Amino acid sequence: MKRAYKHNMMIDLETAAPEGLQGIYDAAKKGLLSCTVCGSPVSLYLGILEKPHLFHQNSKIDCLEPSISQKAETDERQEDESGFRLPKSRAIAAKVPEIDWKGAASISGNPAFMNTEKGLPASDLPYLNALSQSGVRLDSMQTKAVTSVDGPILVLSGAGSGKTRVLTVRTAYMIMECGIHANAIMLVTFTAKASKEMKERLLSYPGMDRARLTGLVSGTFHSIFYRILIYHEPIKWRKESLLKRDWEKEHILKTAGREKNLDEKEFAFDAALQQIGLWKNSLLLPDMVRPADDWERDCQFLYRKYEEYKELHHKYDFDDMLIGCYSLLKENPGILEFYQNRFSYFLIDEFQDVNKVQYELIKLLAGPKNHICAVGDDDQAIYSFRGSEPEYILRFEEDFPDARIVKLMNNYRSSHQIVATANRIIARNKNRRNKKMAALHDEAPPPVLFFPYDEEQEATMIVEDLKEKIANGARPGDFAILYRTHSMSRALFERLAQSNLPFVIDQDADSFYNRRIVKGMLAFLSLSINPEDPQAAADILPALFLKQNMLQQIKAQSILQDCTLLEAISLIKTGFSFQERKLAALPAGIKLLKDLSPAAALERIEKDLGYSDYIKKRGNEGSTAEKGSDDIRDLKVAARRFASIRELLDHAEHMRAMNAEVKKMSKHFQSAIQLTTIHRSKGLEYECVYMIGAVDGGIPHDYALDAYRKGDSKLLEEERRLLYVAATRAKKQLMISVPQTRRGKTALPSRFIKGLY
Ligand code: ATP
Ligand code: MG
Repeated sequence: MKRAYKHNMMIDLETAAPEGLQGIYDAAKKGLLSCTVCGSPVSLYLGILEKPHLFHQNSKIDCLEPSISQKAETDERQEDESGFRLPKSRAIAAKVPEIDWKGAASISGNPAFMNTEKGLPASDLPYLNALSQSGVRLDSMQTKAVTSVDGPILVLSGAGSGKTRVLTVRTAYMIMECGIHANAIMLVTFTAKASKEMKERLLSYPGMDRARLTGLVSGTFHSIFYRILIYHEPIKWRKESLLKRDWEKEHILKTAGREKNLDEKEFAFDAALQQIGLWKNSLLLPDMVRPADDWERDCQFLYRKYEEYKELHHKYDFDDMLIGCYSLLKENPGILEFYQNRFSYFLIDEFQDVNKVQYELIKLLAGPKNHICAVGDDDQAIYSFRGSEPEYILRFEEDFPDARIVKLMNNYRSSHQIVATANRIIARNKNRRNKKMAALHDEAPPPVLFFPYDEEQEATMIVEDLKEKIANGARPGDFAILYRTHSMSRALFERLAQSNLPFVIDQDADSFYNRRIVKGMLAFLSLSINPEDPQAAADILPALFLKQNMLQQIKAQSILQDCTLLEAISLIKTGFSFQERKLAALPAGIKLLKDLSPAAALERIEKDLGYSDYIKKRGNEGSTAEKGSDDIRDLKVAARRFASIRELLDHAEHMRAMNAEVKKMSKHFQSAIQLTTIHRSKGLEYECVYMIGAVDGGIPHDYALDAYRKGDSKLLEEERRLLYVAATRAKKQLMISVPQTRRGKTALPSRFIKGLY
């Protein structure tokens, strides 16, 4: 069905503009659409695999829609054959050109599947045999990697080839077959979650129990070395002294930057913070840095100030945990010897992402025996911005001349079409070790690309698709939705929160509506409908360049002058006549907002009420990753769905509450859809992966494109690796969303998927 009534207006999918589909979908959800024939409620299908169409909510009804010519005759209210009174029709947006619906496409041109499976050899090692019988099998190269226990060994191979399995089995093999005490083993993973999963897996292996694993030191580099530090220097490294948040650190840099007149709207403090981290992880102290240009000179200055600040205030950051431990071991031969004796075997996952300090720490502890087993894939190096150096994986043989190198060729995770697509994506990177990766099965269809109009439609289409698949028997835990940056998850979070599908999102991902810039804008809207809103009065202050302590003065004025908080703001005396004039005009400007649509009101706040000024000065516009103006554009897209300011504000409030709720609930779900950044999805796998925002500016990220335009292709290659990581998380289905607009502007499909469909 293509047509329905909304009140007395006819909606026609043939003529509806693509940006209008979301509105039609929302109207149907509220029960506002009815069949043009029988008058019963209809819904809009806005999914991935079929064209949008209307259908009866009651699946038993199946009306035959009148033809277009008949429709033209229904201009007057009339009675249809079945006796239903049809409301007077008026096609919405009849003049809009034919709907530009771009149907989903499959990846094509992948090489044909070649079955390389040779059957896994039976092992003559009793423990590996027992494991194999319990379903944990190894191929011959994996067996080699597991059983070469002494000396350095590097397992270098593509995604899904069983590297992590090798490490888990190797741990069990060393304990069960070689009689090595768990106490002597350090097992390093990239995330705490991976470490937990590995332990659980180990416990499921034949003959393994908790007692045998006692003493096994397993976790991330940070957690392991922090444990050592806190044991030896508990006061210095107490938890309360940790500088956790980037904004706290940026604040220190910004304060220091004033000494050098570094302008907040031009100087990229976020990039400076990253640069400092990079130096720290490369074991370069401020005095050791040799700045290459003015930018690095400024960063070196900030670095010195940052370190001084921490010293003075007895603070430390995450990077200090590793540097601190390195110094502790270097400066205390007794302590170093103790740990060298304690640990004999080192197993390191995701080795492509180690940085210098981690590498040096391992070398320090493992020497002179060097029983190091490192596994990794240079194509999955995605943390170079934090100082990871795939170089270590590439020159392992140089650092450890007696090292064995094992390459795994099979991909056990994904079906052929996914592996072949991922191979084609990554093959375009120049700086990599050439690797062969072949799937062992070919039962699933090629990856699908789909083309929503914008972020809202993208979210709706995915949730619709999820509902369909889950209704057909899939488990929520089979799915992951991956994105390049957390800010891209807003619409999906909202749509999932409004569905009853169980889902989880990264613990530290705050609500979009709590972002400083978004909160500020919403404060204008709140005050327009409630000039007495104390929270909005507080949230609006930064945008007016007023300090938070002004709030007391505003409240006092409001009592004294018997006026609203909004009016009281206009009475504030700042001593700057220009600012006072602006404040005096504020209530009138804000009051005018209340009758506008949210989208129009936001436009007015930005253009007429000084918000764009605030963004330019305080919106971190110098930042490379997250700019205030991007938040505004995201908010405008979100606001399109709402007819009134009240609706948008209620929605924002609801979403803030949901963010907290979802995190609380996540512990109780047996199986849940995972929403996560690609960075955090490393090492994990899902039956079906949705990769969203595959457009230039999304992935590759804008800042990588900027660097590329300036002649630096390193970041672009890392972005391509990110897409490779995302694609290789999928076992059976990979769905890539390529929105036609992003942040309100036309978007180009990601250059990484060019030529694939
Ligand atoms: P990534 O590079 O993404 O970290 P990986 O190389 O670590 O991947 P694993 O996660 O160890 O790969 O393995 C991928 C999947 O293949 C897992 O589900 C694992 O259980 C399975 N697998 C690994 N080796 C084998 C094997 N020999 N036979 C059957 N399945 C295997
Ligand atoms: Mg792995």
